[in-house]
Amino acid sequence: MNRLFAQSGIADIIDKVERGQRLGGDDGLRLMETDDIAALGYAANLVRERMRGDVTTYIVNRYLHYSNVCWDTCKFCSFYRKPGEPGTFTKPLAEIFKWAEQFAGQGVQEMHIVGGLHPSLKYDYYLDLLRGLKKILPDTALKGFTSVEVDWFCRIARKSLDVVIRELVDAGLDSLTGGGAEIFADRVRDILCPNKIRARRWFDIHEAAHKLGLKTQATMLYGHIETNAERVDHILRIRDFQDRTNGFQVFIPLAYHPENNALRGVRRAGGMTDLKVYAASRLLLDNVPHIKCYWISAGLKLAQVALGYGVDDLDGIVYEHERIFHDAGSNTPQEVGEAALRAMIAEAGRAPCRRDSRYNLLETVNA
Ligand code: SF4
Repeated sequence: MNRLFAQSGIADIIDKVERGQRLGGDDGLRLMETDDIAALGYAANLVRERMRGDVTTYIVNRYLHYSNVCWDTCKFCSFYRKPGEPGTFTKPLAEIFKWAEQFAGQGVQEMHIVGGLHPSLKYDYYLDLLRGLKKILPDTALKGFTSVEVDWFCRIARKSLDVVIRELVDAGLDSLTGGGAEIFADRVRDILCPNKIRARRWFDIHEAAHKLGLKTQATMLYGHIETNAERVDHILRIRDFQDRTNGFQVFIPLAYHPENNALRGVRRAGGMTDLKVYAASRLLLDNVPHIKCYWISAGLKLAQVALGYGVDDLDGIVYEHERIFHDAGSNTPQEVGEAALRAMIAEAGRAPCRRDSRYNLLETVNA
């Protein structure tokens, strides 16, 4: 037991972590509630270094938001627009393909594709989108769609989940995003997004992808109306599922941004809460290989500190303007050059390393 933390209120949990024991829900709740941020960081960093050493990965990627038109009205969402509202956009495929051509041969490892639940786009639009992008960028992994979008495709195509996932993969889909998870608890979903798929369907969609050999992501949107217990419940549902499928390659905590949406009276979570959530996630999710900080939402400086609180992956090098968090009031930079990101990682005492979409390291690092 590290003597520095022998008097900490979470000393017994640190002891378990040092022994490599799995933590339980009660431990998770205490991690979320502790104010001993130094002890929390020590424990999370222990696991981070046990799993990854100093290696801190990032990916050269691009973001594609094909449309912000959505039939749903999730209270926390600042991205969606109703058809005909000012600010709507739906990109024709020809426009997307022309945009994508500029990246051919540029070493872009991944294209992150998400949009709203468009009430009139046909299912073929999404298949043609994947086919066209794969043709233009054969070496770029297509990480597309939230589970909510995949469920929407099943509804508009009137096809089963297994068929839709197979057709998306045949068209070029390489992995699913982790979006749509929000907080799994029904209490929260009933208030924030009552029309959205429930946890069971979210997991079914990832399971269908995992069965086809895809690796996917899991997210958690925190800092709105959820309780600490609901955060822990969310994380443990992911751990239980991962014990069965081992298909999640990363967990991404995302702080709720409060501007320009229908959820009133909620302030953005502070940096201390962010660090607690990263650390508790790393400590509870002993079977998920990576914890990602989405720096576009968190900010580069907090992302740098988070590298000492369990985070080992930063997303990303973004040149195309990101919309979802910036529409919600995030004022972080929208792009960062690779050299600046590497310098920021190195300044935190970590070893920067480019990765591909499956988390293969693309360079040799000594860490
Ligand atoms: S979160 Fe997704 S499903 Fe909900 S309103 Fe926004 S775009 Fe639509």
